Amino acid sequence: MTAKILSGAEIAGQIKAEVAELVKTLDYQPCLAAVRVGEDAASKVYVGNKVKTSEELGLRSEYVHLPAETTQEELLKIVEALNERDDVDGILVQLPLPKHIDENQILLKINPEKDVDGFHPINAGKLAQGQKALAPCTPAGVIEILKRSNIEIAGKHAVVIGRSNIVGKPMAFLLLQENATITICHSRTANLAGITSQADILVAAIGRAGFVRGEHIKEGATVIDVGINNVSDVEFAKELFDETELEKRLATIEKRGFTLVGDVNPKEAKAKAANFTPVPGGVGLLTVAMLMKNTVDAAQSRRQKVKK
Ligand code: NAP
Repeated sequence: MTAKILSGAEIAGQIKAEVAELVKTLDYQPCLAAVRVGEDAASKVYVGNKVKTSEELGLRSEYVHLPAETTQEELLKIVEALNERDDVDGILVQLPLPKHIDENQILLKINPEKDVDGFHPINAGKLAQGQKALAPCTPAGVIEILKRSNIEIAGKHAVVIGRSNIVGKPMAFLLLQENATITICHSRTANLAGITSQADILVAAIGRAGFVRGEHIKEGATVIDVGINNVSDVEFAKELFDETELEKRLATIEKRGFTLVGDVNPKEAKAKAANFTPVPGGVGLLTVAMLMKNTVDAAQSRRQKVKK
């Protein structure tokens, strides 16, 4: 079997186009406030991308960049001020924060109605109870990939590897809401391959390059690769990529020093699965698109509530 590659670019493009159309119909401009603390290089790229995309789609954005020495008290006050502003619809505080700041305290301070990352315990709790909630963007993006690729979820056995609060757990609850039968696996799971190889839908959110091998995958399954890892070892790259992409990947390692790899071995997944999301070009592209959707959803529900 050669898996169908599910293109994140195409689906993210559809969602962004829908958001842009919806924004045109509103009599206000939804506003996303993005807060970044310190000089983490990856965070700079991520936040820059989020701000740029919001502007492309007709949203307004505010970019608050604070020095690494910002205290927890100062950051709490900034979040509080954004909570109180009626013109701000979505607030995101880019993680990771500097070590002296307690992330949980900051996330707890964000008004759940403006919590467009979906990390506030109120939104996590609502999601767990099957209520309408702002859901974390990456797992919400996975659901969009499945639905828009006409992959049936209801009644299927979905196995999620990973139980983090930002991917694994919300992923499982979102799949449950879609009436899948779910199993969550983690680092203490015994007989991992025995469980994952029963999955109709297998989601890998582990943080280990190429960890999911052929033995973990049921013939004909849909495999969703959430992982983002850097691989610089040429010999390892040879184990991961088939002849259709190996040359390009080796050239990337030579040029940039690494190539992006998910948590799934793509060569083995492509040979066994029916559907597979690539890395890069898969789930990663959905995250920002879903953030935009969450911002407009948050604006609509909060502003409608204020009007009543
Ligand atoms: P995380 O917080 O480190 O969680 C990793 C999870 O994997 C944990 O639950 C851990 O189990 C489990 N795990 C680790 N080793 C395992 C093993 N040998 N067998 C089974 N399970 C194992 O990571 P995360 O934040 O959820 O992110 C997961 C991956 O997704 C990373 O590669 C990250 O870069 C990527 N990611 C991508 C996006 C995107 O936009 N595409 C967004 C977020 C994250 P324990 O709980 O037992 O430790």
